[in-house]
Amino acid sequence: MSGVAVTKGNTAPGTDDALVVLKNVNKHFGALHVLQDIDLTIRRGEVVVVIGPSGSGKSTLCRAINRLEAIDSGEIAIDGRPLPAEGRELAALRADVGMVFQSFNLFAHKTVLQNVTLGQIKVRKKDKKEAEDRARALLERVGVTTQADKYPAQLSGGQQQRVAIARALAMEPKVMLFDEPTSALDPEMINEVLEVMQQLARDGMTMVVVTHEMGFARSAANRVVFMSDGRIVEETTPDEFFTNPRSDRAKDFLSKIL
Ligand code: ADP
Ligand code: MG
Repeated sequence: MSGVAVTKGNTAPGTDDALVVLKNVNKHFGALHVLQDIDLTIRRGEVVVVIGPSGSGKSTLCRAINRLEAIDSGEIAIDGRPLPAEGRELAALRADVGMVFQSFNLFAHKTVLQNVTLGQIKVRKKDKKEAEDRARALLERVGVTTQADKYPAQLSGGQQQRVAIARALAMEPKVMLFDEPTSALDPEMINEVLEVMQQLARDGMTMVVVTHEMGFARSAANRVVFMSDGRIVEETTPDEFFTNPRSDRAKDFLSKIL
């Protein structure tokens, strides 16, 4: 069995159900062609796991969707609107597209509660009380209520990452991007973060997850996208990908990690 039935599975890409659409996206770093003709559609409520060898362009793909990286050619649209280049619209886009990084990236000099209220107040224009109420509810949802007044450095890595998830969720994002969210964690903390992500998937959040956690991919993903050398090489269900990878590159990759 793969995934959770949160998508309208019979909806074709390009229809109203499409939330994130990349068309023929290309990106270079100097001579390195890091994203090559990427076409990808992510539908509302879908959980897409992106896997592939180190250096294949997974992080750059996430960063392009959030416009942390500009692309050289092609189109990226969120909810039918092209990515804005700058200004207030860009800040709003970053709120719509929540991102969780490998390295937590919390504001070190703000408390946990402040980390989760700041964007709500600045970008979403909520008043302080409303923002704090929402923040406390989210901290409860990710299981760190007792840490609200501490600073990030006083928390474990797993707790920090769950706060980072709460901070992104506080902005009421349309889609959440996770770039290897458990890779920097001690083994005993990986599951507490994956469980929060599993719950989010069950709640219907649209998610793009770069991860090497194959258990998560098998149980939460509607689709697996396999990247190699800047290209999407396979795009299929987790069951199909893990039991019957078609490309040699995917077979080789799986033989190394499974
Ligand atoms: P992945 O996340 O799959 O490991 P990345 O998207 O981080 O891959 O990187 C893809 C390739 O682009 C790698 O060869 C990496 O060294 C290179 N790269 C990433 N970011 C930059 C950058 N800012 N400048 C130059 N090269 C970069
Ligand atoms: Mg990466």
